[in-house]
Amino acid sequence: MSPRPRADFVLTGASELVTCQAQAALSGQDAGRVGVLDDGALAASEGTIVWVGDERALEREVDVHSGATRLDVGGRAVLPGLVDTHTHLVWAGDRADEFERRLAGATYHEILAAGGGILRTVEAVRAASLEELTASALGRMDRLARWGATSMEVKSGYGLEPEAEYRMLEAALAAARQRPYEVTTTFLGAHTLPREARGDAASREAYVRKVTDEMIPEVAARKLASFVDVFVDEHAFGLAEARRVLEAARAAGLRTKVHADQLGADGGAELAAELGATSADHLEHVSDAGLAALAAAGTVAVMLPGASLFLRSHVYADGRRMIEAGVPVALATDVNPGSCPSESMPLMMQLACLYGGLTVDEAIVAATINAAVASGLEQRCGSLEVGKRCDLLVLDAADRRQLIYQLGSPSLHMVIAAGRVLV
Ligand SMILES: [Zn+2]
Repeated sequence: MSPRPRADFVLTGASELVTCQAQAALSGQDAGRVGVLDDGALAASEGTIVWVGDERALEREVDVHSGATRLDVGGRAVLPGLVDTHTHLVWAGDRADEFERRLAGATYHEILAAGGGILRTVEAVRAASLEELTASALGRMDRLARWGATSMEVKSGYGLEPEAEYRMLEAALAAARQRPYEVTTTFLGAHTLPREARGDAASREAYVRKVTDEMIPEVAARKLASFVDVFVDEHAFGLAEARRVLEAARAAGLRTKVHADQLGADGGAELAAELGATSADHLEHVSDAGLAALAAAGTVAVMLPGASLFLRSHVYADGRRMIEAGVPVALATDVNPGSCPSESMPLMMQLACLYGGLTVDEAIVAATINAAVASGLEQRCGSLEVGKRCDLLVLDAADRRQLIYQLGSPSLHMVIAAGRVLV
């Protein structure tokens, strides 16, 4: 018989312990298989889960340290800490004025022509120091955590020149070292074309080559990111360019993601599947062929409903259709200064249920284990299992459905990251 695990943290009193245990991303009939233990309890040591089971077996099966933190959550529901698998949370500057103009009727292209939009953020990021970018990242990470996310993916993509791109990733990594969150980083040099590459085909080609031949190898060599992402769109990069970016990433040993089919069915999903991308994100306009390709490849579809809401596009990614096509679905905030400045994962879960056709339990799976797979973090977080981080979200309710039902401001009792109580 193996020795009893030692624990310095135990949680009891859960009305339901939602474990989200799974060996891979869940889809199809299993898409809402959250796995609930009534009277479930959990024990951890040094921030890692060492035991999950029935509360009555805890004292017999676990060697609880005499000075352990004992948390009785008093009949509340407990979930894994949420995983935000798509953020642009490092940025400088402010675009609230553009938002006001947009509300008054200005179009995206009018704002861009007036020097606003993403290129304005690029200017502000290029001018910002590492310390300024790190501080901005910390503030946003903390607000994400306040709303239950203990793990977050962070992209570059507002530098669009080598040093500024690297600085964004360094800022995300520096912020991560100051907090108990699980953070993964993604190089998005192919977010859009910088102003200086927009004049003619030759300067455009030179920028794509800078991404593939200079920045991706450097990001890999300096271990600044685990993933490379590319925005496939008629206003960003075409399929042939995106293919080059993704192949350069694979050659450098990095995993891949694609911003796909946001404004039209551009073939981004098919490309992501063909090249074995870990996730394809957005997919508001994905075709049936694109979904079939994602299902066959096991690529996770990441819904970003906050952008549909904030841009008032009235087109939401259809999670119901994705699940029925056998595609594993994840959810993320996409937090960014232009199309979704929200740091609330619960709001995204609510939107995915209200407008994306997910059930409550499918939204929970999409925000936990499936999002962890989309982040390449399924060995670290996304479910309550032995060996994973002790990341917990304790609702101020006995019933997990309250997390989706309480629109905009669900009552969260406590957020715990790596065994540390945050909120
Ligand atoms: Zn994005």
